[in-house]
Amino acid sequence: MKSLGNIRREFAPWNNPDAKPYIQFKNVTKQFGDFTAVNNLSLSIYEREFFALLGASGCGKSTLLRMLAGFEEPTSGQILLDGQDLRGIPPYRRPVNMMFQSYALFPHMTVEQNIAFGLKQDGMAKADIEKRVAEMLKLVKLSQFAKRKPHQLSGGQRQRVALARAVAKRPKVLLLDEPLGALDKKLREETQFELMDLQQTLGLTFVVVTHDQEEAMTMADRIAIIDKGEVMQVATPAEVYEAPGSRFVADFVGNINTFEGKVADRNGAGATISSADLLIRTSNAGEIPVGTEVAFAIRPEKIKVSSKRPETGDNVMEGEVYDIAYLGDMTIFHVKLGDGQVVKASSLNATRATDDPLSWDDKAWISFRQDAGVVLTR
Ligand code: ATP
Repeated sequence: MKSLGNIRREFAPWNNPDAKPYIQFKNVTKQFGDFTAVNNLSLSIYEREFFALLGASGCGKSTLLRMLAGFEEPTSGQILLDGQDLRGIPPYRRPVNMMFQSYALFPHMTVEQNIAFGLKQDGMAKADIEKRVAEMLKLVKLSQFAKRKPHQLSGGQRQRVALARAVAKRPKVLLLDEPLGALDKKLREETQFELMDLQQTLGLTFVVVTHDQEEAMTMADRIAIIDKGEVMQVATPAEVYEAPGSRFVADFVGNINTFEGKVADRNGAGATISSADLLIRTSNAGEIPVGTEVAFAIRPEKIKVSSKRPETGDNVMEGEVYDIAYLGDMTIFHVKLGDGQVVKASSLNATRATDDPLSWDDKAWISFRQDAGVVLTR
């Protein structure tokens, strides 16, 4: 199947003020006894969106999904689907299906019986069930395994059966709780693309829960970063990575260097941030006034490291190589600056021989552009 990535690039209903959200969490709180799992949370998801809920274990992601599916009711607040308040509507009457972490396939049933199960329960005619099951098997490329039992399949194949079963009833929304958690890294990467293509082909809205940021970044149109039952940021993967809104998000997604300091000076759109002995020039300080306590955050790949002092550059700092991690495709240098701060800088290993060999304890220079980092107030 041809990749459908191109279509995705055009898809951004959240930027259209006239677009109506398909799923809305409005000030939703969920308490278990006196523990607040979800705290006054509001969130909008659009039709046909691939939406990811990303957060550490226990942050409330699954609870959000379970409330949408109808397995839990909010303590307060509203959940709307296509404008309709879902309160009191039982799970089986919601146009929503959930694929669980454990897949929960019936072990005594064949692949096709597993896929047909929900359709049978709905009383669909036998001929229609057969047709739908065949269609689903083809979709997940398992037609030749129709008569096998789950234990005769690999983890990836079982995952695809669970997926076929979940979409067989043609729900409008598919909820996936850690859908790829049981797969090894390589299979997980392949399956991510299959999931994206499947979602496009079927034109469904997907809400996926994951604690794996790479998975969320690869698959989702937008990501909600959740911490302690609250939304920290909702944005596209690129925005989350390039323009994190807070220290928490910056630190949670990818690798980042954070320099705590103050806005020392302003000059038009630019500013100087002082952090320990460093003065950092940035063009990304917006309107933040002089004196504000901020963090300057910069990704390791935006920092250049070299053995010679760069001839030009706004932010050039001297240090020594403190640690080196060779990862094959890239090398990560930890450079200790004069004031003791350690900076991570990564460089791509484009050729086998490095032009500028740097070793432990060597003197090194780091440099970065004025627009390379972000200034965070939260
Ligand atoms: P994980 O990635 O580990 O599944 P999660 O972000 O999905 O985590 P939730 O399952 O939503 O987390 O749980 C959020 C919090 O609510 C946790 O601290 C959990 O212990 C608590 N919790 C969830 N369900 C219940 C329940 N039925 N009774 C009491 N506490 C609960």
